[in-house]
Amino acid sequence: MALTESVPTAAPPAHEGILRRQSLRESAARTYARSLPIVPVRARGLTIEGADGRRYLDCLSGAGTLALGHNHPVVLEAIRTVLDSGAPLHILDLATPVKDAFITELFATLPKELAEKGRIQFCGPAGTDAVEAAFTLVRTATGREGLMAFSGAYHGMTAQALAASGGARHTGVVRLPYPYDYRCPFGTGGARGAELAARWTQSLLDDPKSGVPDPAGMILEPVQGEGGVIPAPDSWLRRMRELTTERRIPLIVDEVQTGVGRTGAFWAIEHSGIVPDVLVLSKAIGGSLPLAVIVYREELDAWQPGAHAGTFRGNQLAMAAGRATLAYVRENGLDRRAGELGARMLARLTALAAAHDCIGDVRGRGLMLGVEIVDRDAEADATGARPADPRLAAAVQHACLDRGLIVELGGRHSAVVRLLPPLTITDEQADAILDRLADALTAAVRTTPGPMGPSPTTTRGISP
Ligand code: PMP
Repeated sequence: MALTESVPTAAPPAHEGILRRQSLRESAARTYARSLPIVPVRARGLTIEGADGRRYLDCLSGAGTLALGHNHPVVLEAIRTVLDSGAPLHILDLATPVKDAFITELFATLPKELAEKGRIQFCGPAGTDAVEAAFTLVRTATGREGLMAFSGAYHGMTAQALAASGGARHTGVVRLPYPYDYRCPFGTGGARGAELAARWTQSLLDDPKSGVPDPAGMILEPVQGEGGVIPAPDSWLRRMRELTTERRIPLIVDEVQTGVGRTGAFWAIEHSGIVPDVLVLSKAIGGSLPLAVIVYREELDAWQPGAHAGTFRGNQLAMAAGRATLAYVRENGLDRRAGELGARMLARLTALAAAHDCIGDVRGRGLMLGVEIVDRDAEADATGARPADPRLAAAVQHACLDRGLIVELGGRHSAVVRLLPPLTITDEQADAILDRLADALTAAVRTTPGPMGPSPTTTRGISP
């Protein structure tokens, strides 16, 4: 579909009625629906068309799920082939040709150590199911209980995944500092901040009086997504790998959001060269349908039959769509493309930041980009960081929507504008996205009072 313009029209009654019924009937816990009051009826590639006839450039991509954008022909074809073949659609965890082909394609993309000696467990529909499975696996294999996770992490919404995430309130999970350059907990930032973060982790592990028993595993995201698009330095990831290897602690890498080319490598671990003991995968691996797996070193395979079960682990359509997506990304070098285009977009965002005091930081890797919106009137702290301005970020998101651009907010105070476009976008589409964002930013700054002004109208829930 050609690059589309947003054409405001009077919203037809169907559109209004659906939105009204949604707010009357759906839960108070609904999330995206609050800040994106649109009614999608058609979608292709980067573009969504609403019931009101407006078209939007979708930089949310199903929270990073749609590596190939909406309804990519190879995905539709793969789904149709299964439907027309008469294959069962729901078959628990039994072997099928569709599943066999998915595993073969997935393993072809993995680092040698996992591809040759890895095991795969299908975990149920969501990323959070795979996180749960990873924890059960390492607990069984090590006979230990505790886990190590990082500030700002997001691993899902089931109890254990939530306990390992940044919003946790309780837990057998020890929280470690993540190298967040712009808001460095050690007040230094840069390589020094990452080094101090690694030392803190090491001292907790080695100090017999740290109060932290040896954990069953450590879980991390190579780029924190929901935490505000924070890429971890490769050297820090290698340190985490060394620390865990030396102490025989299984390292679980959550690539639910970073996987399948998103960061400029097929898997984000390739940037640093680390090979985890457990890789957690979901989102893009299902080609827009629900699928979640863990792949892990065979030495860990000590759990019993049924240790992690679930009715919906055999989604044949998702496996077919996922296989087609993995193959398309691999064959067309979309990971490389994401790296190159992402670098160009980041350069333009950096220029935008130079022109706008309200942008505290721009960062990202590949086509996982973030713009941190800060209070333009506040004093910077010793490291140059200023307080987040969630109200302005919400206004930017709103102004983007007015201009036909869908963006997500994330980060500590929902003040990071996140861009997760499909890996298939053209240079022109990338320019259109950034033009609309720049225009929205200017408009939002003009119309939004500083954080001390009247309270905002936009509310947001947590984003999965
Ligand atoms: N891990 C990461 C890194 C994620 O970004 C998410 C979802 N945003 C999850 C786990 C949980 O996935 P799901 O919402 O499918 O449970």
